[in-house]
Amino acid sequence: MELLGGTGADLPNAVRVGERGLSRGELLRWASAVAAEIQGAPAVAVHATASPETIAAVLGGLLAGVPVVPLPPDSGPAERAHILGDSGARLVLAARGAHEPADGEPPLVPVDALPRDGALAHAEPPADATAFVLYTSGTTGAPKGVLLSRGAVAAGLDALAEAWAWTPGDTVVHGLPLFHVHGLVLGVLGPLRVGSPLVHTVRPRPEAYAAAGGSLYFGVPTVWSRVAAEPGTARALRSARLLVSGSAPLPVPVFERLAELTGQSPIERYGMTETLITVSTRAGGERRAGHVGLPLPGVRTRLAAEDGTPAAHDGETPGELQVRAPMLFDGYLNRPEATAQAFTPDGWFRTGDIAVIGADGWHRIVGRASTDLIKSGGYRIGAGEVENALLAHPAVREAAVIGTPHADLGEQVTAYVVADGATEAQLIAFVAASLSAHKRPRTVHLVESLPRNAMGKVVKTRLG
Ligand code: ATP
Ligand code: MG
Repeated sequence: MELLGGTGADLPNAVRVGERGLSRGELLRWASAVAAEIQGAPAVAVHATASPETIAAVLGGLLAGVPVVPLPPDSGPAERAHILGDSGARLVLAARGAHEPADGEPPLVPVDALPRDGALAHAEPPADATAFVLYTSGTTGAPKGVLLSRGAVAAGLDALAEAWAWTPGDTVVHGLPLFHVHGLVLGVLGPLRVGSPLVHTVRPRPEAYAAAGGSLYFGVPTVWSRVAAEPGTARALRSARLLVSGSAPLPVPVFERLAELTGQSPIERYGMTETLITVSTRAGGERRAGHVGLPLPGVRTRLAAEDGTPAAHDGETPGELQVRAPMLFDGYLNRPEATAQAFTPDGWFRTGDIAVIGADGWHRIVGRASTDLIKSGGYRIGAGEVENALLAHPAVREAAVIGTPHADLGEQVTAYVVADGATEAQLIAFVAASLSAHKRPRTVHLVESLPRNAMGKVVKTRLG
């Protein structure tokens, strides 16, 4: 199949999930049996555990031309009901006994009970056919169903392959969940389209990454932060070709520590469910801490000020990042208003993220317009800058900064910090020594942990 880079090649151990390995041919024959089972369905949900069953189910949907709707495996009945009802999926592909369908829920189609010898003849649906309905991570509100076409997925993966010099000679390693764009589109379809073997470690554990012996590693910043905290593990990754971080900001101290221990700076890339990856550093190019790099081939970006006028690309002025690209989504399912609001009148996608672009084209993500831009006493303060300043303190393990209401200032800088034995006063003084006075947190809450979602992103709406 075109989207998967053809069906012919039979690479040994194309996919390994934990202890279970399948060749590309085995996987596609199994997926063909899935396809025969669901042919003609309007959409199909996949109970997306980290397993070969999930991969066979997703590929079955793609072979049959049926839009695939991944379900987080730990979702309870309410979240499942929302995604199934919203997406219109009337079948759920899952391993036997994965969950007990509630009353009125669609029946489970047991992927592991299907024959693994389906015939491989399938027509390629058109490029504008929907490949996925992927739900966003739910960092800022209820997850939205994002319609991604086959053409967008193919364009997104090809641009990445070019930027990262990704070839069949690479072995991809990650342990990301298979129900979001990072783990599923980059992490499973990517290797299949490029033709490189995949080792999925089931969970993103540093020791499993170190033991996998791959060349192209994917992780979210929480994973890299754990790796950077284990020097032995990090040193085992010295032989990797690229360590790639994305889905959330990579703290500068983690970037620096990884570079020191692994002998190479990580690749950073920026993207969204709605856009796939649009900006990244390059395999053979420069890497800069705190920066996500340059637009991928075929992508155009610009910055807009709050009133919608262009903001300067001068390395200093923040603005909303807007993009045009061949890998953009087709809209939010059942949300015409949200879809219309997501685009400017001249057709650019509004990411809702605040960025700075340098005259040399380098992008820095400052944060989200909704939670990470603090307006305090006439200043605009990026939460990420204060978070990085806190993370530079040796006792600080995690930090999240938000704006909270303040009678005089409008908003004040408030920090939530996980630290080993530093006091609030010490941390405020530490930040004051490195940043200008108005950026210093007025309040620091020392907490046991930060609220994070399945992608390891801090859910700032749950702070406070
Ligand atoms: P929701 O839209 O439901 O609130 P979400 O935006 O977290 O959730 P995703 O589509 O998974 O859902 O994530 C996209 C967002 O992740 C981007 O808009 C951006 O804020 C953030 N992001 C992704 N990569 C990076 C990166 N390299 N640096 C900083 N932020 C990033
Ligand atoms: Mg979003």
